[in-house]
Amino acid sequence: NGDFNSRIDYVFKIVLIGDSAVGKSQLLARFSRNEFSLDSKATIGVEFQTKTLLVDNKTVKAQIWDTAGQERYRAVTSAYYRGAVGAMLVYDITKRQTFDHMARWLEELRSHADKNIIIMLIGNKSDLKSLRAVPTEDAQEFAERENLYFMETSALEATNVESAFLNALKEIYQVAS
Ligand code: GDP
Ligand code: MG
Repeated sequence: NGDFNSRIDYVFKIVLIGDSAVGKSQLLARFSRNEFSLDSKATIGVEFQTKTLLVDNKTVKAQIWDTAGQERYRAVTSAYYRGAVGAMLVYDITKRQTFDHMARWLEELRSHADKNIIIMLIGNKSDLKSLRAVPTEDAQEFAERENLYFMETSALEATNVESAFLNALKEIYQVAS
């Protein structure tokens, strides 16, 4: 209602991008509703989820967009990126290819998004330690070279999910305020 809305200081749009099955929808489910499903076949037709939280004593509404199965190269439309102030670039630490594709996603993101967009590189599924195919150092190096923030997360175990979004929101807030 109006009363509640009037207390929101900022609305920040964040987009999730990366290959299919890396865990984008589950990261969003974990962050917005503290839920996780091992069997998340198709992303439900919801375009975005919101979560309102405090950042630096300001009420920030994060509006987080999910790709809903448009992960093929160049299938994500410019409307998806429009107005985004943050992006979570997600790969699966057990699938090298999903990390190798990060450069391509980054290029697509940079060609569509605002130049001040805050980008967080996310290596998801950190719980699958024995299946790791992407060393943390490789991702760190890539993130440094490309000026991205970087974290490894597990949507399943709820590791670093909250911090990843919170850190992104803090950086976005710095840029916006
Ligand atoms: P999306 O296509 O990028 O949206 O990927 P989903 O969120 O649908 O997840 C794809 C599959 O990976 C599902 O079976 C999830 O349960 C699983 N998954 C997602 N996150 C994790 C995680 O952190 N750890 C593990 N072990 N599995 C995950
Ligand atoms: Mg999905």
